[in-house]
Amino acid sequence: MTQIGNLQRLARFSNLLLIFGCTFIFTPLAVAAPAENKTFEWKMVTTWPPNFPIFQEGVEQLSKDLELMSGGRLKVKVYAGGELIPALQTFDAVSQGTIQMGHGAAYYWAGKVPAAQFMSAVPFGMTAKGMNAWFYGGGGLELWRKLYKDFNVIPFPAGNSGVQMGGWFRKKIEKVEDLQGLKMRIPGLGGKVLAKAGGTPVLLAGGEIYSALERGTIDATEWVGPFHDERLGLYRAAKYYYYPGWHEPGTTLELIVNAKAWEELPEDLKKIIDVAARATNQWMYAQFEASNVKALQELKEKYKVEVLPFPPEVIKELKRLTKAVLAEEAAKNANFKEVYDAVQQFQAGHAAWSAISDDAYSKALQE
Ligand code: CA
Repeated sequence: MTQIGNLQRLARFSNLLLIFGCTFIFTPLAVAAPAENKTFEWKMVTTWPPNFPIFQEGVEQLSKDLELMSGGRLKVKVYAGGELIPALQTFDAVSQGTIQMGHGAAYYWAGKVPAAQFMSAVPFGMTAKGMNAWFYGGGGLELWRKLYKDFNVIPFPAGNSGVQMGGWFRKKIEKVEDLQGLKMRIPGLGGKVLAKAGGTPVLLAGGEIYSALERGTIDATEWVGPFHDERLGLYRAAKYYYYPGWHEPGTTLELIVNAKAWEELPEDLKKIIDVAARATNQWMYAQFEASNVKALQELKEKYKVEVLPFPPEVIKELKRLTKAVLAEEAAKNANFKEVYDAVQQFQAGHAAWSAISDDAYSKALQE
């Protein structure tokens, strides 16, 4: 109705203009350039190596999307880890505002914000589906924003690896005792759980993993999933490839924006960033899922990798130890406890729903 009304008014107005012979009156009036027309030139740093497939690739695409959608008003120059600042200084640089944007994973900031680990991945946490439900529909994003507020950082979910693989092992894991003395490259809370099981977690950057495993300096390593693991050549250094990635069930990646820089943006550019982050979140997850299909097939058929499940008693023990590790962390830090309580509550409810939806359907397909 309003539209029709407007059209009628426009028609009457046009007639009036014809009467007065004015054909130029539709030229927009010259006004001072409002904030909406300002161009923002930002920098963005990431925690990923240059050209790192899916991760850095998705970030480069995000930057192009922002420029295109904003009609060139938001230009974000992307630097991979180490190109401008060391990868693990990403959070600090965005927090201080020397850099306006960053991309990484929240568990890298565990030393500064222990509860941030829940925003990327914790052992026996939620899958991508659960994480996204929690962030966008279950209060998770609000908790995340609250957690980063004092650092002047605004986070957005922007990518998900899906369920990772358990890792590459030089020897078979057949019982709980096989974890004792196991030297494994496994970072974060997963490493703490392994230590509780009698193993030795080792911290190694991506570039050092292959040679350490190949030389036997470590007995095992986790990395990402079939696609990235194949590219790293890990199948040449270890024979057994275990699943599932109990320590990283749905690792969420993050886009972070300096709060002051954010406040200077007009509303439409804010919305563009928000929507572009959601698109990146979906794009990366889809790429991981699609790329892993082919890589898994190649690992099995071309490289004759033995793909094995962790024995149920090993999984059960790791789950028991995870509860102990998370309880210890919660006792040390109030924010960690608050987020852990919220996650536990959401995850339990979501698991009950999944049991009769996705899980039941997967089972039905196999029958
Ligand atoms: Ca990993």
